Amino acid sequence: MEKNKLANERVGKWARALQEYAPKFFYKDGKAHADADSLSRMPLPTEHSVDTRAPFCRHCNLPIDGSIPIRSGLGASIAGVEVGGVSPLAAAVPFLDKVKAALPSDPFISDLFRYLQERTLPVETSRCKNVMVQEDSFDVRDGLLYRYEKGGAEQLYVPPALRDTVLTMHHDHPIGGHPAVKRLFQRLLAEFWWPCLRKDAREWVYKCRPCQERRNQPKSRNPQTLPVPSQPFQRVGIDVVGPVPMSRRGNRFMFVIMCALTRWPEVFALPEVPAWKVAKILFEEIICRYRFIETLVSDRGTNFLVEIM
Ligand SMILES: [Zn+2]
Ligand SMILES: [Zn+2]
Repeated sequence: MEKNKLANERVGKWARALQEYAPKFFYKDGKAHADADSLSRMPLPTEHSVDTRAPFCRHCNLPIDGSIPIRSGLGASIAGVEVGGVSPLAAAVPFLDKVKAALPSDPFISDLFRYLQERTLPVETSRCKNVMVQEDSFDVRDGLLYRYEKGGAEQLYVPPALRDTVLTMHHDHPIGGHPAVKRLFQRLLAEFWWPCLRKDAREWVYKCRPCQERRNQPKSRNPQTLPVPSQPFQRVGIDVVGPVPMSRRGNRFMFVIMCALTRWPEVFALPEVPAWKVAKILFEEIICRYRFIETLVSDRGTNFLVEIM
């Protein structure tokens, strides 16, 4: 193996990694080790649903058009399958058929598409140039337009009307869903292409409701988040605001008590905030009026809390 010119970079890397173990190589016939085949095999290209011919999403293994991954169409009718009371014959048009149907009328690629199919160029010079620039990286196969990246993936061109479907399936789907922008690019570009795909993906994530809600969640100041209490005033947060300009009664501080469950606030104006005063207020105004406080939360340091106790 060392003497042979290595087949490619990948094998070369393996060879270097294995060298330190000084292995001996034996030839084993393919038929004899079918068990290991699934491990060593290169990732397969996207598979397509036999029934609808929609490509399967690589991540969730569902057809990309959101169709139900059981047999539909004639095969299903024969098998007596019914989906949600609707005859499968009335099922949505397969994803790839939709793509195919939309291509000729798609203004962005219509010139290129016509050229690749019929070898006819538009008369207008700028449009003609456009086709010539793009020609090398595209090809039409089986009525579909594919883009080829240098040494990269074969990307299916998706017409505008179907881009939302692809984005939905690659961002919103339930399993491993809601990837961030960068990850979404990677997933999409492995199989699909359209102009401004990056911009569309970024906006999609930005506008996504669950993602928005996750972004807007305030960062917890306390890393070990406490469980939600089951009763009002079971857990109570206390805080001191001030000093603020002195009131006519000579108060400069606001002592704030808040129930962790209901967010019910109680505020007391005080000239100073000694621990004994805090303890008195907690006892008279909370414990006597509501219930015994099980947990007291404050970010003013443990000394303060110890003094109150
Ligand atoms: Zn997916
Ligand atoms: Zn999202």
